[in-house]
Amino acid sequence: MIRGDGIEESVFLRADALTRAHGIGADADLGPLFDAPPPESDAETLKRLRQMFEAGGWVLVESALADLPADLRWLYESDAVTIEQLGALYRATAATSLVDLAAAVRDGKLNGIEALDAAAEARVAAALPDLRVRVPRVPLGRAAALVDPFLIALRSSGAVEWAEPAGSLRRGQETVGDIEIVASTARPADVLDEIVQLPEVARVLHRSQRRLYTLTERVQVGVRTVEPQTAGAALVHLTGSFGHLEALRTLAAASGLTLTASGVYAADGARLAAATEQEVYAALGLPLIPAEIRDGRDEIERASSGSLPQLVTERDIRGDLHMHSTWSDGRDSVEAMAAGCAALRYEYIAITDHSPHSAASRNLTADGAKKQADEIAAVRERHPGMTILHGCEVDILTDGSLDFSDRILERFDIVLASLHEPAGQSPEQLLRRYIAAMRHPLVAIITHPTNRLVPIRRGYDLDYDRLFAEAADTRTVVEIDGAPAHLDLDGALARRAIAAGATVCIDSDCHRADLLERQMRFGVMTARRGWVEARHVLNARPLAEVRGAVAAKRAGR
Ligand SMILES: [Zn+2]
Ligand SMILES: [Zn+2]
Repeated sequence: MIRGDGIEESVFLRADALTRAHGIGADADLGPLFDAPPPESDAETLKRLRQMFEAGGWVLVESALADLPADLRWLYESDAVTIEQLGALYRATAATSLVDLAAAVRDGKLNGIEALDAAAEARVAAALPDLRVRVPRVPLGRAAALVDPFLIALRSSGAVEWAEPAGSLRRGQETVGDIEIVASTARPADVLDEIVQLPEVARVLHRSQRRLYTLTERVQVGVRTVEPQTAGAALVHLTGSFGHLEALRTLAAASGLTLTASGVYAADGARLAAATEQEVYAALGLPLIPAEIRDGRDEIERASSGSLPQLVTERDIRGDLHMHSTWSDGRDSVEAMAAGCAALRYEYIAITDHSPHSAASRNLTADGAKKQADEIAAVRERHPGMTILHGCEVDILTDGSLDFSDRILERFDIVLASLHEPAGQSPEQLLRRYIAAMRHPLVAIITHPTNRLVPIRRGYDLDYDRLFAEAADTRTVVEIDGAPAHLDLDGALARRAIAAGATVCIDSDCHRADLLERQMRFGVMTARRGWVEARHVLNARPLAEVRGAVAAKRAGR
């Protein structure tokens, strides 16, 4: 066992990382690694590692921690195990997740591990239930907030050509395992010197020639610099899901090519493409596949046949139809929300506060709705370039009726309806409530249909195909809610919704003006994960069409 001393670069020692990086098996014939070392590894390091490897099997160096699954790394960071014990644990169990590890504990696999004494074993077992709740995967919203100062610094640095978050963060997944930014630069030392100075960096966990791992607000945030000549290939490699990369490699192999983290290579070893993602995909005969759909399902097939969708973008969004103000549980006034939206150049917005029975900390009363209408009228005068709709997010009550009378609901320009309670009814009962609400002529939109709470609570286990068919039938719009705790519908369900012929809308569900842009961005990313195009999105249409859709349903047309 060695520490990181003298090790210039983190080298992948994890079996699946090895497989990923070099296309070799988990039984670790390391030959190919040494024959074609990753560009940033120095030869001396590799020699030492090979000697150690041959002498003693798996080793783990501290600088390689960043390549361990976040779940396992957390055991070390929370002092449950030493680095030696973590290495032994990993080697003996090949666990890459908590689920694996829990199974290993259950099967008594930890008993035989020499480095793991009884006390450490007990700490691991004790940490497991805790880990399940405090899984070190970070919700998308938090991850994006953590990388923002890094991205801003990198993108404004004269030495950086471009910087992009990698992995699940770039794909817009609801939680992120490893938070890492890829930066293209020919001057890595200068760039990393700048980054360690950031006030957000609490501690440097590891720094090498090209990589930096920091502890930022108790979370690991990494910056990986790559040479501009191979930056596109590195970004492809660090963005795609395992399945996506597997499929790309298979496709490459079918044409006698090899795809690695440093480029696409011909059989004679000549590098055909590496500098941009576009070039890498083109060398494989594909158009650029958007990051959000690189999940290893059918995207490569569709790209090959030229039938990828034209995914919705933030530029397609004309308005935001779901947000809260101080009339319910929002932090900011109607005026502040309107001003925030005007700055985003929306054509229209809707202020949609909660109804009396909602579980929100503050709610709009029937009486309040009248006063709010007056306030909105005044705010409209200050923002003549943008239409402000007066809406509400009304709760669907237990019997499927709505929490405001029709007489009150009629006065709103647009009515959103939702369930807010976590449990208490069977899926059939919940579905019946939704269907009753969708059949109500005043309900235009069902918000956050699964009512999940990331990362704490799973969504309702409903028959979503029935829900979406009913939405299409009643011409009720289903929402893709961009609040990081919702991201609801998620990508997979959004894809089923549009396939069923339902219209979706993408909203921020914002409770404060300073997050309007960010939450809409998350909503758009989530929609893109669901293969949603602008033509599927209500709020990508002009205001007249939005009003027309509301009016048509109200009139039963
Ligand atoms: Zn809600
Ligand atoms: Zn809401």
